[in-house]
Amino acid sequence: MSDELTDLYQEVILDHCKRPRNFRELDCASCTARGDNPLCGDQLTLFIQLDGDTIREISFVGSGCCISKATASLLTEALKGKTVAEARALFEKVHTMLTTGAVPESVGKLAVLSGVHKYPARVKCATLAWHTLLAALEGRAEPVTTESDEA
Ligand code: ZN
Repeated sequence: MSDELTDLYQEVILDHCKRPRNFRELDCASCTARGDNPLCGDQLTLFIQLDGDTIREISFVGSGCCISKATASLLTEALKGKTVAEARALFEKVHTMLTTGAVPESVGKLAVLSGVHKYPARVKCATLAWHTLLAALEGRAEPVTTESDEA
C-alpha cells in the first residue's frame, strides 16, 4: 500500500470517528447487543431493526477510541438494507481482512479498515463492532468481550 493510500484511508477513518454515522439509539430495535473491549476501554451498543430477514435500520452508541467508533460507523453504513446472511458473510470477510491485511472482493468502503492490520494492538478495537453484530443477530444477552477472543 502506498503512503498516499494510507493517508486516504486514515482520512476516511478520522472522518467516521469525528462524525460517526447512525450514532443514536433505536426505540424499536428487534435485537441489540453490547460489546466491551477492556484492553482499550471501547464500549458500544448496537441496535438492529429487522424487517423479516433484512436489516432495515442499524445504529450504535458508545465511546472508545477512533478505530472502534469509525469501524462501528462504517459497519452500520455497510449493513443497512442487507440480509442477515449477507451480514454474516461480510463479517467473515472483514474478520479475515482485519487479521491478515488482505482485502477481499466486494467489501467496498470497508477496505479502509485493512490498514488496521498493521497495528496489532488495534485489531480488537476494529473487530469489536463486528463481534457485537453477531451477538445482536443471534440475540445473545451476555455482553461481548474481546478479552477471551482471539481477535
Ligand atoms: Zn480501541
